[in-house]
Amino acid sequence: MVMKYEDRTLAPSALSVQLSRFLSPDAVIDPESTDYERLRKVWNGMIDRRPAVIVRPDEASEVARIVEIAVSNGLPLAIRGGGHSFPGFSTCDGGIVLDLSRMNRVTVDSAARVAEVGGGAVLGDLDRAGAPFGLVTPAGLVSHTGAGGLTLGGGMGWTSRRLGLTIDSLLAAEVVTADGRIIEASPTVEPELFWALRGGGGNFGVVTRFRFRMHPLGPVTVGNWLYPLQHMSDALHRVAELAPLAPRSQTTTLNATTSGLAVTAFHSGTDGLGEVSVEPFGTLAGPGTGGMADTEYVALQSRGDADMRWGRRYYAKGGFLAALDGNVVDCMTELARTAPTPDSEVYMIQLGGAVADVPEQATAYSGRSAGFYWIVQPIWDAPSDDARCLSWGKQGGHAMSALSQAGNYLNEQGDVRRELTMLAYGQEKYDRLARLKAQFDPGNLFRLNQNVAPAASSADRP
Ligand code: FAD
Repeated sequence: MVMKYEDRTLAPSALSVQLSRFLSPDAVIDPESTDYERLRKVWNGMIDRRPAVIVRPDEASEVARIVEIAVSNGLPLAIRGGGHSFPGFSTCDGGIVLDLSRMNRVTVDSAARVAEVGGGAVLGDLDRAGAPFGLVTPAGLVSHTGAGGLTLGGGMGWTSRRLGLTIDSLLAAEVVTADGRIIEASPTVEPELFWALRGGGGNFGVVTRFRFRMHPLGPVTVGNWLYPLQHMSDALHRVAELAPLAPRSQTTTLNATTSGLAVTAFHSGTDGLGEVSVEPFGTLAGPGTGGMADTEYVALQSRGDADMRWGRRYYAKGGFLAALDGNVVDCMTELARTAPTPDSEVYMIQLGGAVADVPEQATAYSGRSAGFYWIVQPIWDAPSDDARCLSWGKQGGHAMSALSQAGNYLNEQGDVRRELTMLAYGQEKYDRLARLKAQFDPGNLFRLNQNVAPAASSADRP
């Protein structure tokens, strides 16, 4: 019979005393600390939880001891990378928040084209470390997003069609497991765990260090255009025609809002197709407003930082599309027209290319064959707008889901239900993850995530 961890509580002061035996005083923050109110916050302002303690370790051995304390006290344990989980997985009520933000060091071996990245680094740390060498690891589009959560779910961004998902550049990971061991996972050491870390989320342990392959970025060409709402449908139909012709060095993102359709066409690399592949996006439905932009990659990677800032209120529901067909165009256009606030959007990024080169079964990430990924994302500030913004997000997400293909990207789902997790992975992958979960985390200590339940062992079955 496997012991299940039950959520217990312990007086914060008693817990702080245990933790302060090996952590510096400023690394243990309880409700009495002056920094508590600031540090208990996560990115999504909809989430308001009060952990018993927040701990900020500096190294893997400290992480292992914190894990042991959570287990021995039977406390909920939330692992925080960048704090950007939409449903607020990286905090909890009454338990321990293991905040990795001090473990954010990135070192680049430019000759070997390898980056060592602390489990609490954000994407800006990674991008800035590679920039002096002209090297990148493909990752997401907002610089304050955590590399930890993003990588464990997959990781898609501007260079993914050319260089793959973030997990496709993962070479190895250092992991603290539920029993407090510090182990390495790579294609040759613990290969099954390495498979699961590439898309299986935070289910298997705390990743304290990632080792990534880096790639030469090459020249970058960017064009930004806005098409007014009345031309959105025509512009989207033209994007649908251009998408299959795009070289893998080129990626398009779409943001459909009440202001219209914002299109960014991005190209990187040395194939010489920059201008020729980007320029057609400037005349999708008559000329768009905007043009080719002289943008540095690192700056592009943070252009959404302010709009997507900490503390606003967010929800997201996403899915994969085979193609941008007429029904999708109609649905997106209608959602843009009815969006509840100016910043609320239907966002879309073209996938395919190198993402689809990797066989579906090679990693836990599901959805390699998708042509596009979308999210319906209401963004607002006033709590009084919660109901109408959530309603638009959920109904819009439902409408887009009905047009979408099987599978999903679990990193950007505001809803948390086990059947959605199972549907996203599909039965075969989910069962494989559940067997591994039973091996590495049989009591489900790491459950504040898109959770995979440990497979029942034969001893547990009636
Ligand atoms: P957290 O809330 O800290 O963690 C998320 C989950 O991962 C939690 O379950 C947590 O326990 C776990 N976790 C985090 N770090 C670790 C670790 N080191 N070890 C073990 N478990 C860990 N995704 C993309 O692919 N591309 C994008 O361009 C993109 N843009 C985004 C922009 C914004 C503004 C936001 C909010 C999200 C974006 N995402 C994107 C989605 C993003 O990948 C997820 O929100 C991801 O979970 C964020 O990771 P985090 O470490 O910041 O979050």
